[in-house]
Amino acid sequence: MIAILRLKQKIRQLEASYHRPINSVALLAVSKSQSTESILEAYKSGQNAFGENYLQEALVKIAALKAYPIEWHFIGAIQSNKTKAIAENFSWVHSLSDLTHAKRLGRARLAQTTEPLNVCLQVNISQEESKSGINLIELNDLAKEIKDIAGLRLRGLMTLLQANLDFEEQKQGFRQLFLAQQALNAQGFNLDTLSMGMSHDYSAAIAEGATLLRIGSAVFGERI
Ligand SMILES: *Cc1c(COP(=O)(O)O)cnc(C)c1O
Repeated sequence: MIAILRLKQKIRQLEASYHRPINSVALLAVSKSQSTESILEAYKSGQNAFGENYLQEALVKIAALKAYPIEWHFIGAIQSNKTKAIAENFSWVHSLSDLTHAKRLGRARLAQTTEPLNVCLQVNISQEESKSGINLIELNDLAKEIKDIAGLRLRGLMTLLQANLDFEEQKQGFRQLFLAQQALNAQGFNLDTLSMGMSHDYSAAIAEGATLLRIGSAVFGERI
């Protein structure tokens, strides 16, 4: 598990280069399609937070690794009939963009535990048809509606950029999410999380204020 240690070192170096406070950028290891053994290996190297996209696949790994205090993050597309299992098995959801899903997650979480589910709203910065998430213009209203849902704790914003951008374009995209978070906080929100940056664009994300990088292939190797 040399790759993950080297990646963490690189994150510390980038924090320094972009004048970010040390340890202000955390790593979410995206473990979709990775085996339980690979996750355990990363865990033993000191990695505690893992992100999964597909509920059925995740539930198998969560059950297999339940002896370990791993923090599981759901980062995939949400379906209404999966909200209960998501609320019961994950600590975080990054991919929330629908009020009905939010209410269902909150209700299921409350029924299970007093510890709220941490959520980020997924914003579609590049406005690609294929990308999920809400548009920036819809963000304010949805954030206001979700803020007070019992069982949820609104922590911040999440985005995925297009894959073909250059460094300056990546920075511009991430900057929009940063500014959107600032604007919400200026209205009295208390958002502390910017979930942005993947294997190919995490440097730009760190430059623009990411607090949580979602990285898969640079941790585990390319998915087959
Ligand atoms: C797969 C995935 C990632 C990680 O992508 P890599 O390119 O492997 O780093 C991050 N976020 C989401 C939502 C993903 O689906």
